[in-house]
Amino acid sequence: MEKTLLILKPSAIQRELVGTVLQRFERKGLRIAGLKMMQLTDALLDEHYAHLKDRPFFQRIKNSMMITPVIVCCLEGKEAVQVVRKMAGTTNACNAEQGTIRGDFALSMQENIVHTSDSVENAAVELARFFAPEEIFEYTQNAKPFLYANDEV
Ligand code: ADP
Repeated sequence: MEKTLLILKPSAIQRELVGTVLQRFERKGLRIAGLKMMQLTDALLDEHYAHLKDRPFFQRIKNSMMITPVIVCCLEGKEAVQVVRKMAGTTNACNAEQGTIRGDFALSMQENIVHTSDSVENAAVELARFFAPEEIFEYTQNAKPFLYANDEV
């Protein structure tokens, strides 16, 4: 089944939203396949935010991601990449729909609580960047028969 990367940014840690945010994904039915705290580095963020390297705020967003450790999470479920991204809401939290994480908990373009992978291809690259293979766990999700019909998975 599809896997995606979620990062709880320093804004989630400092605002004590870790449990609240993770609970939303658990309640949705997504399986937590990997979870750990780590301190990001400038070099890792150069890779992670390479698509923003020419933007004037590049160093600033990298700094904001290093203020505290972050929590990285691998979530698995049917269409997990687009489901998780939709639950996060649009980048600018001021425009994010109510009911999304950014829409409910933030007011900023930069301090927007979570990172989520934006495509299946990028999810695979990002998961390999943040997790060693042995840090991603396969186990039976007991609720599975009540989350999906047989022909959906
Ligand atoms: P997303 O996180 O929604 O996938 P991007 O990949 O475009 O968005 O940007 C990565 C992160 O960089 C955003 O989540 C946000 O924290 C920050 N960012 C993006 N654009 C801006 C901006 N114009 N001003 C400040 N921070 C920004």
